[in-house]
Amino acid sequence: MKYAEVLLSQGNINQGHFYLPKGTDLFPADALGGKNKSEMAKSLEVIFVGTGEVVLTDIDSEKSLFRSARGESRRFIEKHKLTAGDKIYITKTGERRFSVSNKIITEPTLNSVLDEFNLEVIKALKESPENRKRQIENAPKKPDKKTVETTIYIRNPYVVAEVLERAKGACERCKSTAPFKRKSDGSPYLEVHHTVPLSEDGDDTVENAVALCPNCHRELHFGVNA
Ligand SMILES: [Zn+2]
Ligand SMILES: [Zn+2]
Repeated sequence: MKYAEVLLSQGNINQGHFYLPKGTDLFPADALGGKNKSEMAKSLEVIFVGTGEVVLTDIDSEKSLFRSARGESRRFIEKHKLTAGDKIYITKTGERRFSVSNKIITEPTLNSVLDEFNLEVIKALKESPENRKRQIENAPKKPDKKTVETTIYIRNPYVVAEVLERAKGACERCKSTAPFKRKSDGSPYLEVHHTVPLSEDGDDTVENAVALCPNCHRELHFGVNA
């Protein structure tokens, strides 16, 4: 896939932003706008890999920035703990779609497929109800399938068991009782979550894990304050 590299400077880190490479043919010409909002060009769809954020934005070609992605850029830099000298990769993954990542993107991954799906949902929410209805009527009723290669962490079952024992059937965050019992063995249903994610080099230890109710768990991953 076609991509551009961006080398981060200390100034970029301090400002929480990054500049797009100039003079590249990576971006469609109709997405290059002027510096004022009145000179806004056609939007691109930009996915920030790792934060789950997506944004529709054109490019301020004077400043060489994604115009409407300030917060997303800052949170992306924070999330990946990027420092001066680190690189960001901007990969063209579709006609008007780009991914911002801290690693080179080669194959679609489970997360990239989910990120793209999330973007489609956000776009669908912005369309008119009539248009959505038409899209649904014209779509096949059985979904397409895709095979992706994904890397998983082999977690220690003793850590999970120990954390579940510690929680004694109540969420360690909101303190409410597990919402239901597990079909497999009748035990209270809680989910063991890593405070520092394994994907961010967190330890698979009792100290780095909490037992959560499904609500708290989803909120930690997808909530506005996550
Ligand atoms: Zn909870
Ligand atoms: Zn989790």
